[in-house]
Amino acid sequence: MVEALNITLKKVSKSNLQNIDFSNIIFGKVYSDHMFVADYRDGEWTDFSILPYGNMNIAPGTCGLHYGQSIFEGLKAYKNNDGEVLVFRPDDNYNRMNISAKRICMPEIPEEVFMGGLTELLKIDRDWVPGIPGTSLYLRPFMFATDEYIGLKPSMTYRFIIFTCPVGPYYSEPLKVKIEEHYVRAFPGGTGYAKVAGNYAGSLYPAKLAQEEGYHQLIWTDGVEHKYIEESGTMNLMFMINNVLITPSLEDDTILHGITRDSVLTIARDWGIKVEERRVSIDEIADAIREKTLQEAFGAGTAATIAHIRTIGYGGIDYQLPPITQDLFSKKVLETLEKYRKGLLEDKFGWIMKIS
Ligand SMILES: *Cc1c(COP(=O)(O)O)cnc(C)c1O
Repeated sequence: MVEALNITLKKVSKSNLQNIDFSNIIFGKVYSDHMFVADYRDGEWTDFSILPYGNMNIAPGTCGLHYGQSIFEGLKAYKNNDGEVLVFRPDDNYNRMNISAKRICMPEIPEEVFMGGLTELLKIDRDWVPGIPGTSLYLRPFMFATDEYIGLKPSMTYRFIIFTCPVGPYYSEPLKVKIEEHYVRAFPGGTGYAKVAGNYAGSLYPAKLAQEEGYHQLIWTDGVEHKYIEESGTMNLMFMINNVLITPSLEDDTILHGITRDSVLTIARDWGIKVEERRVSIDEIADAIREKTLQEAFGAGTAATIAHIRTIGYGGIDYQLPPITQDLFSKKVLETLEKYRKGLLEDKFGWIMKIS
């Protein structure tokens, strides 16, 4: 059990809910009424509050803005048929947030702060959890360094915030992705496995170049040889070859340990599908496309859920993947995942936290 937090509550004078068209939401642009805020100073977390979502005062010398001591998480809440709010695998996001925190010298967030803040925020903004198929409430916990000091050292103070956004689908069509052979997202010994802000800043420019060539996203390859596939955007990657589900293993510290990835693998194993977590070379994928043994390729992540891939660009050639049909594993697993998330299937893996 999580201990109760002493949270100061200041509600909006008027909800913005009536002004939102839930059938047409742009990802990440619509914010719910409230946010949870906590501060870290003198070695402890204090000043827990739920406030109207809104601007904060930040000093120009705030170190988090200069050196990137900043981490985030992303998870989703859904409504079941009884209108109750269900959060998908929050414990895993909580654990991962503290793994990220450790890597860049941030303090651990106590479970009662993360879970307690999340729970109380969702109780207050429960009407913001949309019910239309394909929509959900995206939850964004994050933490950044707040010392007003521009010497380079770990900050002594931090702010932890959770705000939420009703969201619709992330990608509206199957993806055209390009295998990146020059730029690198992560390197052994680096921060690739952590959800730290700088990883994403560094990925923008290579992704922009690929977008100028007409691709949606990049497939990152290993930083040492550019020979092995890692991940894509904010998604882990999976391939079905000869009825075996293959995905890059997490042994190196360069790949984000996706919770959607783990959920898909768990369901696949539950269905008796053979799963291989290992190194996946570009050559293997290119050969499988040519030999027509590659049945499907897709990305898996909280924001995008399952994103089907239709084209892979590599070495100047665009390889077309088989058409996306209803009987693909990725279609079925997406449907099943949605059912678990909405409480339509028995929660046999213990993935659901219900907000009472
Ligand atoms: C968040 C993220 C993922 C997906 O993780 P989920 O827990 O499934 O949302 C994959 N790769 C990167 C780089 C990410 O930031």
